[in-house]
Amino acid sequence: MTKHLTLAAVGLLALAAAASLGAQQAATVEPTPLEVLKVQGNVFMLAGAGGNISLQVGREGVLMVDTGLAAAAPRMMAEVRKLSPGPIRWIVNTHLHPDHWGGNETIAGLPPDNLQPLKIAAHENMLNRLTTPEASAQAPAVQRGLPLNEYFTPTKDVHFNGEAIVLYHEPKAHTDGDTVVLFRGSDVVSTGDIFTPGGYPFIDVDNGGTVKGEIDALNHILQLTVPAKTQEGGTYVIPGHGRICDEADVVEFRDMVVIVRDRIQDAINKRMTIEQVKAARLTRDYDTQYVSPTSFVTTDRFVEAVYKSLSAASTPARGQTPAPGGAGRGQAPGGRGQAPTGRR
Ligand SMILES: [Zn+2]
Repeated sequence: MTKHLTLAAVGLLALAAAASLGAQQAATVEPTPLEVLKVQGNVFMLAGAGGNISLQVGREGVLMVDTGLAAAAPRMMAEVRKLSPGPIRWIVNTHLHPDHWGGNETIAGLPPDNLQPLKIAAHENMLNRLTTPEASAQAPAVQRGLPLNEYFTPTKDVHFNGEAIVLYHEPKAHTDGDTVVLFRGSDVVSTGDIFTPGGYPFIDVDNGGTVKGEIDALNHILQLTVPAKTQEGGTYVIPGHGRICDEADVVEFRDMVVIVRDRIQDAINKRMTIEQVKAARLTRDYDTQYVSPTSFVTTDRFVEAVYKSLSAASTPARGQTPAPGGAGRGQAPGGRGQAPTGRR
């Protein structure tokens, strides 16, 4: 239930991000209790401060993946201090939604360590979107805590506390500035909001997200994970929101996104309008698992994002409507049992 509430909070905040980067305070919900769980190796998960936060701790100090909501930052820092008194040397932000980087400003305001100043890394598309003239005009207060150690290459390497940590840019997935973080020694992956096991993915089309990129990113996460005996455990996965997962959980989620994508593509091929697609309830077998009354990513929102994303991708430059395809297969809209195309 907490999961659903958290997803609702994310959604509200994502909307706030789109409308106004300074609006996160208004959308803050009542404080949820914070929870710190050891995941594996040197990595911990802090939940309840907005999006999940990953913490890697050791003798060099603390590296954080995401920093939660601004309003939760003091309580979040108190939990971090229970884990390590060391300096926070690195923040990696997975993407631009304020429930994932709102705590940056507080951490950047801590007394500076002149020898090794705090580095805040993110993909440059995140920084670019946070610093457009429009965004700056709406949120002039955001001066401190921006991810100025941005990267623009497909990957970025960090070595910290004796561990190799690899940042991967996942193009056009949840947004166009998503980073997945692999802790190679601890064998843990932090996914940001590309993976949200308790709810449909929020494909933020307005911030460059696409369903194709979402599926590509989920497949890439599956390449990074190695299960242990009977497909359980092995690499652990910290999602953007929700419980600690393993590879099997990501497979289930990826399959759902692929199946829904195929059904909606089929409907587009049959020239169904978005209203017809929504009326056909193509996701009804998944709705009980991924939607609750408080979900921000409602069925309609998910279906609209996938439809919009696929329509944009399939519209030929000449303005022709796409030729009907898949009709020969005789699949009725909403037909059950359509397998994901290709890969499993
Ligand atoms: Zn997000």
